[in-house]
Amino acid sequence: PSAMREILLEVPKVYWSDIGGQKEIIQKLKESIEWPLQHPETFSKLGIKPPKGILLYGPPGCSKTLMAKALATEAGLNFIAIKGPELFSKWVGESEKAVREVFRKARAASPSIIFFDEIDALTVKRSTDVGSGISVADRVLSQLLNELDGIEPLVNVTVVAATNRPDIIDNALLRPGRIDHILYVSPPDLSSRREIFRIQLRKMSCAMDVDIEELAIETDGCSGAEIISICQDAALCAMDEDLEAKEVRREYFMKALSSFTRRITPEMIQFYD
Ligand code: ATP
Repeated sequence: PSAMREILLEVPKVYWSDIGGQKEIIQKLKESIEWPLQHPETFSKLGIKPPKGILLYGPPGCSKTLMAKALATEAGLNFIAIKGPELFSKWVGESEKAVREVFRKARAASPSIIFFDEIDALTVKRSTDVGSGISVADRVLSQLLNELDGIEPLVNVTVVAATNRPDIIDNALLRPGRIDHILYVSPPDLSSRREIFRIQLRKMSCAMDVDIEELAIETDGCSGAEIISICQDAALCAMDEDLEAKEVRREYFMKALSSFTRRITPEMIQFYD
């Protein structure tokens, strides 16, 4: 059986309302992917070309994957997710074929989104074929470019790529007509953090003394993923105290916050700016 069967079509169930804040970037994504699908006549009348590809970049855990999934869910698109490194590990010797197969499936399932997570993996020289001198990564990259430039047009297939390392992505990928919409997904600001807490705390029994405003302020610089993990830690603290705890109190959130190290440093943010 071919490993290619593992390229799975998914129907994600992530809605815009599951994402706290990040409104501006969500609006941009809607404009570039939902609008052309929902109003193709207007696009052609006004002479706007929908993008073939969008790059989401930014620090880890800040909702790049969530956004790609919400796009698919909300616009009713099929979703094919693939991690850059997988192309080399999962389909050893068949990496280029895997890329072709991904696009073939996406075309067959259109309207669809191909989500390439960790797209930067494609530019890291992993191994070199004896003799040819051309690395697997090079060949995978040119296959991807072929697909994007396509003899067969990409009708209603959008590539959404994500990375924490925009600096090492091969420029060829980002040229006009390829992945040419580039969006920065920043760490959540105060109001976004407030909303992430609101979404998460709705799912938890919390004591009256838990103050979302305070938590949002205290988590300055945290990613969305870190906020979720602080909430989980707080709940576990409550259980540490009492295995039959009925609610999570403020003190447990404070404890979780104090034992927590932020992954996103100021230097990192400067790097993205
Ligand atoms: P990576 O670069 O590490 O792949 P990412 O930017 O793709 O990260 P996601 O996978 O989208 O990040 O986010 C990880 C988890 O963090 C999500 O599953 C969700 O639980 C939480 N999360 C992150 N941002 C938000 C947000 N704005 N609203 C709600 N939850 C969030």
